[in-house]
Amino acid sequence: MNPFLELGIRHEVVNAITELGFEKPSEIQEKAIPVLLTGNDDFVGLAQTGTGKTAAFGLPLLEQLDFSQKHPQALVLCPTRELCLQIAKDLEKYAKYIDNVNVVAVYGGANISDQLRQIRRGVQIVVATPGRMLDIIGRKAIDFSQVNYVVLDEADEMLNMGFQEDINNILSETPDTKKTWLFSATMPTEVRRIAKNYMTDPVEMTVGTKNTGNANIEHNYYLIRAKDKYAAFKRIVDSNPEIFGIVFCRTKIETQEIAEALIKDGYNADSLHGDLSQQQRDKVMKRYRDRSLQLLIATDVAARGIDVNNVTHVINFSLPDEIENYTHRSGRTARAGKTGISISLINLKEQSKIRHLEKVIGKSFERKEVPQGSAVVEKQLLTIVDKVQNVAINEEQINQFLPAIMEGFESLSKEDIVKRFASLEFNRFLEYYKDAPDLNIDARDTGRGDRDFDRGERRERGGSKGFTRLFMNLGSVDEFNRGEILGFICNTTKISGKSIGKIDLKGVYTFFEVQDADVDKVIQGFKGVDFNGRNVRIEVSGEGGSSDRGGRSRSGGGERSGRSRFGGSAGGERRSGGERKERSSGGFRDFSGKRRESKSKY
Ligand code: AMP
Repeated sequence: MNPFLELGIRHEVVNAITELGFEKPSEIQEKAIPVLLTGNDDFVGLAQTGTGKTAAFGLPLLEQLDFSQKHPQALVLCPTRELCLQIAKDLEKYAKYIDNVNVVAVYGGANISDQLRQIRRGVQIVVATPGRMLDIIGRKAIDFSQVNYVVLDEADEMLNMGFQEDINNILSETPDTKKTWLFSATMPTEVRRIAKNYMTDPVEMTVGTKNTGNANIEHNYYLIRAKDKYAAFKRIVDSNPEIFGIVFCRTKIETQEIAEALIKDGYNADSLHGDLSQQQRDKVMKRYRDRSLQLLIATDVAARGIDVNNVTHVINFSLPDEIENYTHRSGRTARAGKTGISISLINLKEQSKIRHLEKVIGKSFERKEVPQGSAVVEKQLLTIVDKVQNVAINEEQINQFLPAIMEGFESLSKEDIVKRFASLEFNRFLEYYKDAPDLNIDARDTGRGDRDFDRGERRERGGSKGFTRLFMNLGSVDEFNRGEILGFICNTTKISGKSIGKIDLKGVYTFFEVQDADVDKVIQGFKGVDFNGRNVRIEVSGEGGSSDRGGRSRSGGGERSGRSRFGGSAGGERRSGGERKERSSGGFRDFSGKRRESKSKY
């Protein structure tokens, strides 16, 4: 017998949910449905989004209500328009084979008269966001005097969003005899208080442990320097070619900056934050749902109630301030029994936050290494090989061109053809990751490593005051070590070695400090100089000559903005071969919210 029938759900509904692919009840459904079907109790269910909550309360509601009547009998309150629409749609689907079921979705940002008209026509279930609901109550356009059930869905989110008072006012419109069913992913004191004030002896149920994320979520973190965050993030994305992720930031600006940078770098990404109009928001969400976007960059508030299945990764670009937000964020993946990965990008100082999170959610986090450039490239190449193997071939269409194609390739061996196809797709990619540095740091590092090194070396060489930092387009790949590059500079420009400060030798470029008085001499001295057939280029780096920020802005510190596409169809967002993002931008951003300027004209 169908397990839902055994729970007491009627045939019509079981038929409808079977069509939706529900074979057996989820944990929350199994636990909650028998209790809610009695209709006698208030109820508190501690469950994450994506656990099947909607059916857990929706199916019992369909059993309890009298659909021959046309007045509101159940009210479902939820935090966002998206969730409101989703719940209303889900309830309609479950009720597909029951006659005369009327569900209305009442939410802000849409035409109120349509909603009023639907209410006037007669409804049994109202699904609403608190603000618009109160508006309608204020117009005396709805009668809640015969409401038997109130569901508070994502109660913690509603309180987070400041709906406490609205909820109080709405509940006061409903009869004292009604039953209240509350669902929440977390149980902060405010939610407890609601349960205490509005409910009588509620039956409490927890799916998983309190405050614990879904068991199907793997929690990983990467330890990196703040300045390498974006580069590390891209590597992680690039090493997961099939990623469909939500990236969380703390601020609107951060979401915009990251989305902007990603788009420039050829990714399908966009941002979702509080400054968007409802229409813009819907558009972004539609693109994400349709998978035209592969990465959604969002703030906590904007991402509330996002209900998209098959999200593979949640990435905490910045850790949230509130632990509860971590649970909410990670709960956007591993929905409906799927697995998912929650990634946090942290610096040394944030290690303690990870330990704290582990304690609170009761799960351990695994430290992962940021993949090396070569590993990323290999991963991408293998994905392409996989895609080539599995691509659907339209024999009919391709056959007509086949003779011409064959002729074109006649002189090439199979190996040559393979190499050429791979190069077509990957030259830029290979170039991008060439000399990409290791971005991982030692967990026991004091976090002052780089700076101390910089300072120490500068002190040794006379300090950076009075020095200017210069960029040179030669580096260790040109088989220089520091001493040799010092010699090369001095011999070429005829300045004394004492005039050279810190030398920061990188793969394809070098930064070196020169006493201010000698800067022009060095620049002039290198005019027209070739090295192994390459024109040697010297430029003044960013102000003050500290850190390698200038390097990022011009040659990318090994993290050039090449294409790193998934599936190779970035369409219009692709750049032409080899062009570097940095060339077109006079400045660049770090993602701590500050804008750094580079003087480079490169
Ligand atoms: P919810 O937590 O209600 O938003 O549900 C998350 C997702 O799980 C939705 O896509 C539901 O359609 C799906 N779902 C809910 N219950 C079941 C079930 N018993 N079997 C399979 N899928 C389910």
